[in-house]
Amino acid sequence: MSHPSVTTPIKTVPRDTSRSFWKLMYQVSLVGAVTHLLFAGLFYWLGATTMAWVNLGSVTLFTISYGCLKTRRNLLASILIVSEILIHAALAVRSIGWDSGFHYYLLVMVPVVVISTMRHRSYKYLLSCLVFVLYVVLDHTVRNTAPLHVLSSETLSWLRGFNTSVTFSLLFYLSSLYLKLVIKAEKKLRIQATTDPLTQLLNRRSFLELADYELTQRKRHLAPLAFVLADIDHFKSINDQHGHAVGDAVLKAVSQVLSQALREQDSVARWGGEEFLILMPNATLEAASMVAERLREKVSAVEVVVDAQTIKVSMTFGVSSHRLEEPVDGPVNRADSALYQGKARGRNQVVAEAH
Ligand code: GH3
Ligand code: MG
Ligand code: MG
Repeated sequence: MSHPSVTTPIKTVPRDTSRSFWKLMYQVSLVGAVTHLLFAGLFYWLGATTMAWVNLGSVTLFTISYGCLKTRRNLLASILIVSEILIHAALAVRSIGWDSGFHYYLLVMVPVVVISTMRHRSYKYLLSCLVFVLYVVLDHTVRNTAPLHVLSSETLSWLRGFNTSVTFSLLFYLSSLYLKLVIKAEKKLRIQATTDPLTQLLNRRSFLELADYELTQRKRHLAPLAFVLADIDHFKSINDQHGHAVGDAVLKAVSQVLSQALREQDSVARWGGEEFLILMPNATLEAASMVAERLREKVSAVEVVVDAQTIKVSMTFGVSSHRLEEPVDGPVNRADSALYQGKARGRNQVVAEAH
């Protein structure tokens, strides 16, 4: 199995984050174009023709960004979007005053920069610093300067109200997006930590956690608990004759049969290479042996077809029952001994531990 090099200098951005970020950029360019078109009309109507032209410029930039995103020129699209937001915020507060609230959009830039797919963290710091400096400079220069276009205080108040609402909505949207990404990543990690990547069955560690839980339950309710260890017969010769990839296909097919044939309350894990361990709560040794026999029949009916060749497999099963107060190793070792006997007796059979 190949592992990615741990010394890779450039960090790769997780695919989900990258997908969400570019989806966000699409939305920004579309919504940006539409809202700036509306603003252009509004400013023209208010007599602030310079701002109307600035907004038409923004519409053009957002439309070009959308086109760039469609044609996968993502870097150019990002540069255009970032420039638009910075320049527009600066021009708008200079033109119609600090109280218009257009500088709020600079604050929204920070979470967008953080979620962005920029690989080098230093670029994120740099861009955030640039936004910060622009904000501080505008605060010091524009706040106490008379605006170029004086709007009525009622219009200004409406405009500020609009910008405040959009800023809050954007921050809420961005935080939700971030949370969604974190939850998705956590789920992915949990699945990776608990399942075997080839067969998608439980891995050894999560099986042991589950077994520990069942053992404590058993102390309370005294219900029987059975273990079945199953091993594919002559699996090495399948690998030798047909190759490792075919061996993997056989492992997947067998895993599917086992997990589909078991009861809802039973759990199956990939215990080792071609070894599977099954936990059967509320099953006596006899009941578990019967289930194992059914599994054996199902596995021996499996046919894996590769290059017009049909590969048949069989499995040997060892069954044991948990004895009160013993640790999980006890029944696992006895199932292993029973399995070993089954192998010695000719394979393709179920052997239960002696009472
Ligand atoms: P027996 O009937 O006694 O169980 O014989 P066997 O050939 O099945 O058992 P043995 O332990 O000799 O061989 C198991 C083989 O399983 C050896 C190993 O290369 C192979 N194996 C282990 N993990 C994997 C895997 O993930 N994929 C594939 N294709 N083979 C694996
Ligand atoms: Mg084997
Ligand atoms: Mg084995």
